[in-house]
Amino acid sequence: MITLENVTKSYGSFQVLRGCSAKIEKGEVVVVCGPSGSGKSTLIKCINALETFESGQIYVDGTAVRSAGTDHSMLRAKAGMVFQSFELFSHLTILQNIMLAPRIVQKRETTEIQALAETLLRRVGLERHANKYPIALSGGQQQRAAIARALAMRPDVMLFDEPTSALDPEMVQEVLQVMTELAREGMTMMCVTHEMGFARQVATRILFVDAGEIVDDCRAADFFAGRCSERAQVFLRYEA
Ligand code: ATP
Ligand code: MG
Repeated sequence: MITLENVTKSYGSFQVLRGCSAKIEKGEVVVVCGPSGSGKSTLIKCINALETFESGQIYVDGTAVRSAGTDHSMLRAKAGMVFQSFELFSHLTILQNIMLAPRIVQKRETTEIQALAETLLRRVGLERHANKYPIALSGGQQQRAAIARALAMRPDVMLFDEPTSALDPEMVQEVLQVMTELAREGMTMMCVTHEMGFARQVATRILFVDAGEIVDDCRAADFFAGRCSERAQVFLRYEA
């Protein structure tokens, strides 16, 4: 579903990604973890072209990301993204937020989009909040709405960049619950998170990133049993 081939990126003279390669198969839930500043957000943003990279290649469902002919809005429809800050449109209701891109970008039928949006709102437990504006919702509710909005594009893969780290503790679980259900339904997911409990329970594989390199790429069970690099073991001692 996603192939990273020797992805290299610099900000000026600072090399943030140093030849990252990995493969994410359909149905996998891959958790990306590692210390602050190691390049996790940059890596995940390169996948749907929110960041550019100088060399190497990324394929999303066969589409090359670093190619002049690639339609970025099509790419972003294939790879839905959820950020730390929810980034809903504040002037639109939750329902309008969810319906906007399928209507404008994908030009789908309004009746079909409306039906899907209502289904998604039920799925994330927000059916009673469809006509509210984001400001009237809690952080956890806004993040669940952001997940529904990404799902409305019918993505092949969902990318998450620390979706719970801006939330109060009691709201973290409700968002992780939605993500866990999504994983159980077979959605392919790549998720940057510090939630090691979620990673233990839900991840099939862990990518441990340090200083712009994928230091470990292993089964979650092996990672949490300590069958990983020494650097990752030190990280785990502090995080888990
Ligand atoms: P965190 O866990 O804190 O979110 P991260 O692993 O996601 O960190 P990135 O945000 O990918 O790390 O950043 C990696 C490095 O690149 C950091 O040293 C950061 O300061 C630097 N960096 C990120 N964005 C830019 C930018 N636009 N310009 C210059 N340097 C940047
Ligand atoms: Mg980050």
